[in-house]
Amino acid sequence: MTDLTSMTIAEAKAGLASKSFTSLELTDAHLAAIEAARSLNAFVLETPDQARAMARAIDAKIAKGEGGPLAGIPLGIKDLFATKDVRTTACSKILGNFVPPYESTVTSQLWRDGAVMLGKLNNDEFAMGSSNETSCFGPVVNPWRREGSNTTLVPGGSSGGSASAVAALLCMGATATDTGGSIRQPAAFTATVGVKPTYGRCSRWGIVAFASSLDQAGPIARTTRDAAILMRSMAGHDPKDTTSVDRAVPDYEAAIGKSVKGMKIGIPKEYRLDGMPAEIEKLWAEGAAWLKAAGAELVEVSLPHTKYALPAYYIVAPAEASSNLARYDGVRYGLRVPGRSIGELYENTRAEGFGDEVRRRVMIGTYVLSAGYYDAYYLRAQKVRTLIKKDFEDCFAKGVSAILTPATPSAAFGVGEKGGADPVEMYLNDIFTVTVNMAGLPGIAVPAGKDAQGLPLGLQLIGRPFDEETLFSLGEVVEQAAGRFTPQRWW
Ligand code: GLN
Repeated sequence: MTDLTSMTIAEAKAGLASKSFTSLELTDAHLAAIEAARSLNAFVLETPDQARAMARAIDAKIAKGEGGPLAGIPLGIKDLFATKDVRTTACSKILGNFVPPYESTVTSQLWRDGAVMLGKLNNDEFAMGSSNETSCFGPVVNPWRREGSNTTLVPGGSSGGSASAVAALLCMGATATDTGGSIRQPAAFTATVGVKPTYGRCSRWGIVAFASSLDQAGPIARTTRDAAILMRSMAGHDPKDTTSVDRAVPDYEAAIGKSVKGMKIGIPKEYRLDGMPAEIEKLWAEGAAWLKAAGAELVEVSLPHTKYALPAYYIVAPAEASSNLARYDGVRYGLRVPGRSIGELYENTRAEGFGDEVRRRVMIGTYVLSAGYYDAYYLRAQKVRTLIKKDFEDCFAKGVSAILTPATPSAAFGVGEKGGADPVEMYLNDIFTVTVNMAGLPGIAVPAGKDAQGLPLGLQLIGRPFDEETLFSLGEVVEQAAGRFTPQRWW
């Protein structure tokens, strides 16, 4: 039998439909791959019994010709998504052994469409990070290594488990979330495709909140087509999330292979950073050339407030986080560390339950929201946010269909290499991605090449609100030109 784990979702769908294999066989192959890859630390909880039960049930449906669009496809779920009766921790000690009595909307839509859950995936604690080193379950390992080296590399974050598992063929696709880059940056570090949808496209209900005005769920997959297939099931209006938008969900897969002839693609001059590695410059120019060859017109555009995006993000996101994380008090969820008074119980629980990065964010957030500083920091950051959004609006008003940028300023780095002495060093990873969250726009990261050490690099395409389809069409052009990249198996 061909290796069942190296297929794309599109190929597996065809194989299941033609009865070349069953979902149970497909699921078993992935469960075996997960077991053999525990050294990657991508899964924080494997759910083999549940996976097999779901696969059997869906096989019965497929036999009756009833399977949905994801019938029998085994997926991994980021541990930020609440899964009914299955432990959900956001990879924080403070949630302990929390078992939600409900299912997130996004995951329930995946199960509605026939997908199979393999388990829960590692992430940075409360999705705060760019390397998946802040998880209470320990760092995730990137299946990619530098040529001729066995240095352990990070997969990016916060959806590091999702990216690592998809790249290492442990699941066919995964859910992820993106507040400032957490889908696109790990996708770029692992040669996978990651989509951060327009704010409001996917329901946030049942996803552990980090920064509610920025958080969005999206897929990580091995091809643009697979990401489009997953997106269709994940997207949609949900009355339980008032920020989700009531718009029909298009058939995203139909956008794959559509001509991009005549599209105007913006190249923002402010993204050309001083000291940017030559390899990234080259990749960006190559991407532009591929789109041009496919008939698109490249135009230079200006997003003048870009330089304020990262500082403004690191005010808005911690402010919202400090408010969202107030609910973890030792009374309602997970960990409880007793004290002599209720106040002491809160303090003890929060001191014990939150990791360093989360505490840093809570402190920054509380500070910028405090009476004396609210106007100087929070309010000003919100104004900057409006200006960032306006930059994009001005650009799209000139007929630009999408904007092409690098996804990250570097390839994957070593575990422990960044942010130890200065957290800003870690924050800089998101320099090209945070603007998109600040403006609520959709973005896709597509593998586009490798650096001199053989590590994958990605390009980002930023679209108009609710125009993910254009991103899928353009992403496919990049994928066709660049080819696909798979890590050498060493684990
Ligand atoms: N790396 C960014 C942060 O730490 C973004 C994280 C995310 O998108 N969840 O806040």
